[in-house]
Amino acid sequence: NRNKELVEMITSKEVFIDNLSHEINTPLTSIIGYSELLEKANCTDEQKQKFLKYIQQESKRINDIHKKLLLLSYKKKADFDAKHIEVINVFSEIEKLVRFKLEENNINLQINSSLKTIYGDETLIIMSISNLISNAINVSKNGSRIIVNAFEDNNNKYIQVIDEGQGISKENIRKIVEPFYRVDKARSRKNGGAGLGLPICQSIMELHNGNMKIDSELGKGSIFTLEFPNM
Ligand code: ADP
Repeated sequence: NRNKELVEMITSKEVFIDNLSHEINTPLTSIIGYSELLEKANCTDEQKQKFLKYIQQESKRINDIHKKLLLLSYKKKADFDAKHIEVINVFSEIEKLVRFKLEENNINLQINSSLKTIYGDETLIIMSISNLISNAINVSKNGSRIIVNAFEDNNNKYIQVIDEGQGISKENIRKIVEPFYRVDKARSRKNGGAGLGLPICQSIMELHNGNMKIDSELGKGSIFTLEFPNM
């Protein structure tokens, strides 16, 4: 059994490094290509602007991946800042963060919360919820609705993000929490996704001694539930 565990660990590390090197190599190759084009004397000003813009975009992408990777290893950090935080403040921060993207896609966000406080790191909790909402917007049709429910029972506090998007197949539910996995690669890249958002949410929930559950039905939508211990 121990042997099997070791093999699995090494394989998943290899897959991670393979994916990471691909994710970084793709934008780097573009940066090299466009900077070589820029060097050529016969570029028009208009072309130069265009190439510079591509170079900026691709550099930002690498920068973004770098930041997210740091977050993935956050769980090794000691400075996890947990305290009782006001849920009202969390949602007002989140509304600011996602407002633009909601309006741009004409999506209605409905928040129903009966929670007063939650115990955890405010920055990380805001990041994981806004990440789930952002994913939900990516899969939602123009004019549709996203619902966020926050409630508790004796054991846990729950924050749910519900969308009416395309849903996720059983097989993909397992895979989307793996780093760099995307169901629709082309579309997800266009949205700026590197497939690190959900692994980060999962890490954040582990830090909180909680977990993330995914329920989904193809063609109907998905429910992402963050479960925190009731403290
Ligand atoms: P990304 O940054 O690419 O969005 P995530 O780790 O957040 O990375 O998500 C991984 C993949 O899971 C996405 O590319 C998308 O295909 C799928 N996914 C995430 N959220 C949803 C959702 N609410 N409905 C359907 N598919 C989703």
